[in-house]
Amino acid sequence: MIIGLCLLVGWQAALPVAAKAPIETLLITGQNNHNWPVSHQVLKRILESSGLFTVDVAQTPPAGGDMSLFSPDFDAYRLVVLDYNGDAWPEAVRERFENYVKNGGGVVVYHAANNAFPDWKAYNEITALGGWEGRNEKSGDWVYWKDGALVRDSGAGIGGSHGQQHSYVLNRRNADHPVTRGLPERWLHAQDELYDRMRGPGNIRDVLFTAYSDPATGGSGREEPLIFTVDYGKGRIFHDMLGHAGPSPEESPALQCTGFQVLLLRGAEWAATGKVRQPVPDDFPTATTLSYRKNYVEE
Ligand code: ZN
Repeated sequence: MIIGLCLLVGWQAALPVAAKAPIETLLITGQNNHNWPVSHQVLKRILESSGLFTVDVAQTPPAGGDMSLFSPDFDAYRLVVLDYNGDAWPEAVRERFENYVKNGGGVVVYHAANNAFPDWKAYNEITALGGWEGRNEKSGDWVYWKDGALVRDSGAGIGGSHGQQHSYVLNRRNADHPVTRGLPERWLHAQDELYDRMRGPGNIRDVLFTAYSDPATGGSGREEPLIFTVDYGKGRIFHDMLGHAGPSPEESPALQCTGFQVLLLRGAEWAATGKVRQPVPDDFPTATTLSYRKNYVEE
C-alpha cells in the first residue's frame, strides 16, 4: 500500500510539461489582403503540433457579408490569435474584445493583423503600431530603434511599407524576457517582408527583436521593431510582424522558418500564461544559417 503510493507520487512528479492541459486558443480569420486560407491553416498546425495548444477557428463572413453573424466568445479562451484584416466587427464584439484584453486576456497579433481597423482607437492601442489602410501622421508617431532605445518621430508621411522580400537578421533587444531567454542575440530569418515606418500610439512594453530595414532592398534605413509586447490594461499581447504567407503552405518560406515557428510558439505561450516552458530547440537558426521546419512540425 505504502509502496504503491510512493510510486504514484513519483510518477506524477515525472509528468512532462506536454501533459498539462493544452491552452484553448481562438484564431480569428476570414478576411485579409493576405492569403488567409494558407496562413490560418499554417498557424493552427504550428500551434497544435506542439501539443501545447488546441485551436478553434472563428471565421468571419467574407468582405461585404453580414458581420452580425460574427460573435465569438473571447472569454472562453486563454489566447486569441489575430489573422484578420477586413470589415469592421459589430460594436458589441469590439467591446467584448477590448474587455477580454483589458481583463488579462492573451493576444497574438500576427503580420497584417496590424493593418486592420485604422479607426478603432482601442485596437490600435492593443497593437501599438500599425500600417497601411490610410495611416499617416494622424495615426501616431513612427517608432523605431536608435542608439539602444526606441525613438518616436512625429514627421509627416506614410504609415507602413516594406521593400522587396529578402532574408534578414533579427537582433535581440531584451535577453531577459520569457520569450527571448536563451535565444541567440542574432538569428537569420528566411525570406519575408520587413515591415517599416509603422505608426501608432506606440505603447510598446518590451522590444524583443528589431531588424535593419536596408535601403538597398527598398527599406527605411531604420532599425525597425518587429517583435514586441504591448502595454494595454492587464492583457498580455505578443505582436509579431513576421510571416508573410505565400500561395501555399509549401511555398511560404517566412512561415516555414524555424525561427518564425519557435517565436510564435513561445510568444503564444507567454501571452496565454505569462511563462514560457519550452526549451530552446537545437534547430533554431543562427546568425548565419537558415533553418526550416517545412512541414510545420518539430522533428
Ligand atoms: Zn505581408
